[in-house]
Amino acid sequence: ENIIVGVSNLPNQRFKIVSEQGGTFTLMVCGESGLGKTTFINTLFQTTLKHADPHQRRNQPIKRTVEIDVLRAILEEKNFSLRVNVIDTPGFGDNVNNNKSWQTIVDFIDEQHDSYMRQEQQPHRDVKFDLRVHAVLYFIRPTGHGLKPLDIETMKRISTRANLIPVIAKSDTLTAKELQEFKLRIRQVVEAQDIRIFTPPLDESESPDPAVMEHARQLIESMPFAVVGSETKFDNGQGTLVPARKYPWGIVEVENDNHCDFRKLRSLLLRTNLLDLILSTEELHYEAYRKLRLEGSGA
Ligand code: GDP
Repeated sequence: ENIIVGVSNLPNQRFKIVSEQGGTFTLMVCGESGLGKTTFINTLFQTTLKHADPHQRRNQPIKRTVEIDVLRAILEEKNFSLRVNVIDTPGFGDNVNNNKSWQTIVDFIDEQHDSYMRQEQQPHRDVKFDLRVHAVLYFIRPTGHGLKPLDIETMKRISTRANLIPVIAKSDTLTAKELQEFKLRIRQVVEAQDIRIFTPPLDESESPDPAVMEHARQLIESMPFAVVGSETKFDNGQGTLVPARKYPWGIVEVENDNHCDFRKLRSLLLRTNLLDLILSTEELHYEAYRKLRLEGSGA
């Protein structure tokens, strides 16, 4: 069993920062349509989260970007509960004009920063509505070849505004060897193109916990995470029903580390690096946006 740092076990000070901010985590998923984004969200909810209000899936108070769908859920730990928003974006890549398909995503991220900034400028600094995006999962088509120019362009734009986490969609459609080669190729392109992806920081304190360090190293080595999603459960051969995809030769289990990186990704998002994602959004991405806007308006 992998070491998992639960939210409630985090050092007090950082824990306090987040709980004071209301304990909200906002995750966005994007990429071409048909890559399993919606299935991934449902799998994540089924295995970890509770719907805050299942009847309110649609028609959330978001203007303009009508096609963007926000799902709300609660993550409960021993003495901590976190509101989780998941933002499902319209798939792109299927339009005739693909040139600016990243625009909706980038606009949404900017609008949330903008809305937060304006609320902060109010006399009482009473922030009621915060959908600043803490992490963006970018779904890559499992071609085995490489990244398309559109992928590169989109990832570059996202990475200047938010924590970008590329994932290989439907990784069960690749063999283990194809997957390893594909991961390597993506890592090379990310480096060559200077795309800033989110990387779990290694503990640089004087006495780092070896188990935590090892977990962080494993997360870094697994990038980009290979993802399998499924809303259906199958017998894992030991009489337990588990979320999986069925093939004539057997099943691919969502929560099996030998089959895909779903558990690693979930741990990074909701446990080990939850605070890093929230704090870097606040300190890095939001601050950069604020500075840009204030300078731009001559204020
Ligand atoms: P979206 O358009 O990105 O939201 O994709 P959907 O979640 O609607 O999934 C599109 C299709 O891919 C559906 O038929 C899913 O059952 C299938 N699918 C979703 N996730 C996976 C996966 O991990 N592996 C495989 N092989 N198929 C998947």
